[in-house]
Amino acid sequence: MNFNTVCRCCLVRPPDKDLKSVYTCQGKTEVYGDMLNECFEIHLPIEPCDSENGICELCIARLRDASDFKHQVLQCQKEFQIKLTTSSDIKGSVFKLLNLKLMVKSCKEMENELMLVINTKFATISVLAKGM
Ligand SMILES: [Zn+2]
Repeated sequence: MNFNTVCRCCLVRPPDKDLKSVYTCQGKTEVYGDMLNECFEIHLPIEPCDSENGICELCIARLRDASDFKHQVLQCQKEFQIKLTTSSDIKGSVFKLLNLKLMVKSCKEMENELMLVINTKFATISVLAKGM
């Protein structure tokens, strides 16, 4: 790495790594040029001279943090949507159950009314039968 050049992201510190090379950090592969693209949609044109395509460790740390944060928010958004869907399913089930309870209650009331009518008719018939 040519130390007369500077990091493409801050133009302050000397570069430590290359923007288009593949590196591994804690088991994850990283291409800093791609991460800039994916995270911020910044397309850094790659210069023909390799020493012009460097990035410093401080900028790498910030980029990695930003990229992690983006993935975290996206993942949380997914989980949030799943939770939302599940809870609306539960709400739907509770609503159905309440409706069912109301139906059962009105059936019971109808049954009671029907029994009352039958009993009254039966009583009338019995009286009539006794009179015969
Ligand atoms: Zn830098």
